[in-house]
Amino acid sequence: MNEPLQALRGMEDILPPVSATWQHVENTLRGLLLDYGYQEIRVPVVERTELFKRSIGEVTDIVEKEMYTFDDRNGVSVTLRPEATAGIVRACMEHGLLRNQRQKFFSTGPMFRYEKPQKGRYRQFHQFDVEALGFAGPDIDAELLILLARLWRLLGISHVSLQINTLGTAETRQRYRAELSSFFRESFDLLDEDSRRRLDRNPLRILDSKNPDLAELIARAPQMTEYLDDASAAHFAGLRTLLDDAGVAHTVNPRLVRGLDYYGRTVFEWVTDRLGSQGAVCAGGRYDGLVSHLGGEATPAIGFAIGLERLVELYALAGQPAPTRAPDVYIVAAGEGTSRLAFRIAESLRNGVPPMRVEVHCGGGGFKSQMKRADRSGAQVAVILGEDEVAAGAAVLKPLRAGTEQQTVTVASLADAIRPYLAGLHTGPVIETVR
Ligand code: ATP
Ligand code: MG
Repeated sequence: MNEPLQALRGMEDILPPVSATWQHVENTLRGLLLDYGYQEIRVPVVERTELFKRSIGEVTDIVEKEMYTFDDRNGVSVTLRPEATAGIVRACMEHGLLRNQRQKFFSTGPMFRYEKPQKGRYRQFHQFDVEALGFAGPDIDAELLILLARLWRLLGISHVSLQINTLGTAETRQRYRAELSSFFRESFDLLDEDSRRRLDRNPLRILDSKNPDLAELIARAPQMTEYLDDASAAHFAGLRTLLDDAGVAHTVNPRLVRGLDYYGRTVFEWVTDRLGSQGAVCAGGRYDGLVSHLGGEATPAIGFAIGLERLVELYALAGQPAPTRAPDVYIVAAGEGTSRLAFRIAESLRNGVPPMRVEVHCGGGGFKSQMKRADRSGAQVAVILGEDEVAAGAAVLKPLRAGTEQQTVTVASLADAIRPYLAGLHTGPVIETVR
């Protein structure tokens, strides 16, 4: 006998009612970003492996051990995207979107990393990604953080805090890196295998280590701020002033790094203590060197990614249920010819001004079981159609939430009879953004 079919480890199905929370969170994000002037960009989920190796960097967790990489049928090495920035930057370069231009983009979708699955950490997970290209900042840096602070408010999430740091320029980082390298070399015996490997190629990444045994050593390491150039210091100060003006609380964490050459200046992370050890909800930073590193003209840029699994979890913990989207009207129909009338009425109510949200009962059954479904749907009213109603060109209108009696009305006056029960409710087929 065959094994029952199951999803791959670390790849989750998102089922109702949780999917409603996802929609709410995603719609809120989308609405917010559109309001701030960001446009959506959609890029492929699979790219050439080389793109990720060159843009993320060889000496990173992602490229060293987390990528889903395989040869396609033509022998081309391709990779399921582990993050979105690389593909977006590739698309911008390919379509000439960067020359003397500024772009504010957002994108969302699944990412893939071969990690050990656990709560808050999956092999297929989802990110909402925002990238601003062509901006040297620090105004745009501040804008991104200010809009994120608004996002938490919109979602009613209060247990997140912002950590920021600056990584300076490539030159200052080079001096710092040499200093860091000799510091860690002096304590070579204390380093774990990962850190030893990073010592030569990327000692900044050691600061990022999650190994608790290294925490004490890392705390004693020299700090970037001692090596910072004046222009980067001014950039950072400018960002902090704008954050203070906007009332966005933040802590400077000198250990916060993105250990790649082309990440510089601003880096940040929003963290929470509510999700156990997977506490990073949103991470981002400036990557002024990436476009030129990939062969384009030097283009300052900054971006961030939010982990949606963690955001949805935080939203759920904050206690509000996702807004539901019940129909206004549920149409119950049993007997000869009633289906045809039900569909006719449903479409005409949906065409009304304002349009109503209408669910037609499908799948047959008696009035009693249909009424149960009508009630469970959350609709305000049921419209009941039997053979007598079809013959008379009439319908029974039964309020489901108000204490009023049911009434029989003509089909022509049905919409007017329903409307008072919907007063003050949102109707219409549009996806509302929530403010
Ligand atoms: P972590 O330190 O948790 O491994 P990261 O530094 O690898 O995170 P980024 O590459 O900065 O994460 O990705 C941005 C966000 O995406 C993270 O803050 C997190 O919310 C989310 N994220 C990253 N990896 C996963 C995963 N495997 N499963 C779920 N969410 C993830
Ligand atoms: Mg990771």
